[in-house]
Parts: sequence; C-alpha cells; structure tokens
Amino acid sequence: MDTGQLFLHFQPVVDMESGPSGVEALVRLRHPQQGVLFPSSFRKALDNPPMSRRIGCAVLDMALTQTELWRRQGFHLRMGINISACHLLDPQFRVDLHQALELHPEVPPESLILEITETAPMMDFEKARKVLIACEKLGIQIALDDFGTGNASLTWLQKLPAHILKIDQSFVRDILGETRDHAIVSGIVTSARLLGLETVAEGVDTVEQVQQLRAIGCHSLQGYAIARPMPPEDVPGWFNSFDRDRMMAVDPLFPARFSAS
Ligand code: C2E
Ligand code: MG
Ligand code: MG
Repeated sequence: MDTGQLFLHFQPVVDMESGPSGVEALVRLRHPQQGVLFPSSFRKALDNPPMSRRIGCAVLDMALTQTELWRRQGFHLRMGINISACHLLDPQFRVDLHQALELHPEVPPESLILEITETAPMMDFEKARKVLIACEKLGIQIALDDFGTGNASLTWLQKLPAHILKIDQSFVRDILGETRDHAIVSGIVTSARLLGLETVAEGVDTVEQVQQLRAIGCHSLQGYAIARPMPPEDVPGWFNSFDRDRMMAVDPLFPARFSAS
C-alpha cells in the first residue's frame, strides 16, 4: 500500500442485446520478487480490517479515476467495483464512498455497481441492508456477486436492494453437460426476470455457453470467452473492435474471442 503497488485490471461485461456495457475492476498487486499477484494471494488482507478499508478506498479511487478518464474520452462505461464485507460493514464506508464521489464529480453514481458477496449480509444482515439502501439512494446499483454459492437465502432477494445477480461461474461452467446446473441457471434467470433484476453470467468460457445462456434469457455475459481482464489502456480498443455478430455466431469452431481484429 505504501509504495503504491496495487493496480486494477478491467474485464468487459457484454449485454446480450446491445453489446459491451461496462467493466468489472479487478485488483492486482505488483510484487517486487513474485511479479503480478491475483486477489487469491492476498485474500487475508482484503478481508481483514484495517487493510480491507485501505485497499477498498484505494480501489474506489482508482476505479472512479479510470471511469472519469474514459468518460472524457467518450466511453461511458458502467464500472463494477468489488466491495469486501469488512469494508461494507465498516462504520466509515459511507463516508469513504461519499468522499470518492466528491473527488470525482464527473462520475454519475448511476454508472457505478457495487459488487457484494453474501459474506457481508451473513455477518450482519441489518447493517448490510442499511448501507446498501443508502447506496441505492445515491443512485448506485448493487450486484450480488457469486450468486448461488454459499448460504444466501431467497429472503435476501426480497429484502436487499439488489439490481443485478452475478451467477457464479461454478454453475455456468457445466451448463451444457450438467442438467442440474442448466436447471439452476435457468431458475435464477427466470426468478430474476420476474423480480425485475438483471443477470450476468460469470466465467463464460465458450461460444456454446454463450448460445445456451442466450436461449435461457440471461441479460449479460462476462468471462474469458468474451475477454480476459486487461489493463486500462487496452479497454477502449477492445470496445471499439467488439463484434456482436461474432459473439452470436452459431459455429462452435469460431475463435473464442470476440474482437474483430
Ligand atoms: P469475482 O468478483 O467473482 O471476479 C471474477 C473472477 O473470475 C476474476 O478473478 C476473473 O479474472 C475471473 N474470471 C473471469 N472470467 C473467467 C473465466 O472465463 N474463467 C475463469 N476460470 N475465471 C474467470 P480475480 O481477478 O482473480 O478475482 C477473484 C476474486 O477476488 C473476485 O471474484 C473478487 O471476489 C475478489 N476481488 C477482485 N478485485 C477485488 C477488489 O478490488 N476488492 C475486493 N474486495 N475484492 C476483489
Ligand atoms: Mg465481482
Ligand atoms: Mg463473482
């Protein structure tokens, strides 16, 4: 933290109908000996106070700075930001969020999506609910990340101000082979539609999964088949060269990356 070695990569999210809609910010750590580290290597820091707050604030600032830069270049992208349970439940979280928004007045709160896992509501449901309601009042959208794993109950869908369900990659991975996984994803998408929620399938690896998710009625896709997380300077080029017809191509032998180049 002190030497500024944290940075973000961004993974595109693509709407099934209208094409690229935004990105998810994914934190990385540049280690002097070990090179670039992924969040799994520093999970403990992400989940423990006071580091979770320091990292959370740094990520918020970097993500909003980048959103602002892209907006100035004409790219109006939605920005998904992962919020750790510790930071969300920290009494200072709302202050941190307000400060980040004040520092970046060109970023409309409506373009931000806070991605939360079930950990925060599991730790303190009422507190998490209150914070999320306050975020929603600012115009920020809430996504329930890794949806379907763990112990999240349907009551949460009823009581938390969620706008987006991000269907966990463990269900998406075997959507073609496993009848149960297919049924689970279909069930989530149908319930979400009835509740007026958007669905994003995570970990979409193949063209066949794209076809299947389209047939099921999933709204948006994210995964290596669409694009891997990339440095910010690559994002505008990727968005400009995205080819929706390729994404929808029925031919399974089609290259599994959908940029026109
Ligand atoms: P997540 O929010 O569910 O993020 C998606 C993860 O799945 C990312 O891993 C992404 O690179 C990976 N992924 C995307 N598409 C595919 C695919 O097609 N196949 C496979 N196998 N994986 C795919 P990453 O970047 O290692 O992040 C892992 C987790 O770390 C994230 O899961 C999130 O929970 C956490 N995380 C990432 N950035 C932050 C952050 O800034 N703050 C906090 N608190 N947590 C973060
Ligand atoms: Mg996420
Ligand atoms: Mg996820």
